[in-house]
Amino acid sequence: MVKAAAFALMLIFSSSCGVIASLRPGPTIVPLISATFLSVHLFIGENGDAQEKARLPELRDSLAGALPTAWATATGGRGKLALRTDGDIDVELDGTGGTSALTQHKLGGRVVSRTIAVHTMEGSRRLSVAELLVTTLHELGHIWCCYGPGTTDGHWSDTPTGFSSVGLMYSPMTCTVTPGIDPVCPSVFSDRELAEMHLTSP
Ligand SMILES: [Zn+2]
Repeated sequence: MVKAAAFALMLIFSSSCGVIASLRPGPTIVPLISATFLSVHLFIGENGDAQEKARLPELRDSLAGALPTAWATATGGRGKLALRTDGDIDVELDGTGGTSALTQHKLGGRVVSRTIAVHTMEGSRRLSVAELLVTTLHELGHIWCCYGPGTTDGHWSDTPTGFSSVGLMYSPMTCTVTPGIDPVCPSVFSDRELAEMHLTSP
């Protein structure tokens, strides 16, 4: 999964998400929450080894500090995100390896609750804040994106082969990892993603 380049490692960020497909609403159901004003309850879970459990509070604080600005940047200034205990959506940091995912629970055809699990490890590798941030943006994007032609299981089918800073709804996502420097990950929703999120006119 790792390609070596001359001065940087191009890491295929393989915590590609497993969307819980059967629980996701189809495109005809209007999302009840808005990407324009989104509130998130970010908290840590009980899972993980001792080292990861020790890391979780710091990861949570770092993510909480970075997420509002990251959302504003990702949406080109069209969206605001606030952290609240009683948020639109729960995001749990899980200190184990696994597939990060958005789960939408439906009752009578309507979404009654949404939960995102973000795993802080990939195999034995402890993920950086930059990687967890892009994972969180990606999973939040799944609330609205992506359906229809050109998509497979909630992701665009035309995944770029190299690094691209634009486009957060691919699977897997690619970050550029240089030893000693924070990974550089995609940071901006593409135009077609912003349209799916109802932040621009299609
Ligand atoms: Zn995904």
